[in-house]
Amino acid sequence: MRVRIDRDKCVCAENCVVTAPTVFLIDADGKARLIDPRSVDDETLLLAAELCPTEAIVLEDEAGNQVYP
Ligand code: SF4
Repeated sequence: MRVRIDRDKCVCAENCVVTAPTVFLIDADGKARLIDPRSVDDETLLLAAELCPTEAIVLEDEAGNQVYP
């Protein structure tokens, strides 16, 4: 699964960092940034995306088809 962050939507709730600290961090702009999206399984990525309050985390399959939201 591929991960993208829509930084315009990110409100720094940090749910993603709590759920997958090896994947996401909050940078100096106060927005989520990717570290290592391949460090967790797809279920964890999906959970992190579902817990984002603004749907700022976009998941795509390897063909580029949007899986979430
Ligand atoms: S959970 Fe969503 S809004 Fe919160 S920091 Fe992560 S990407 Fe941003």
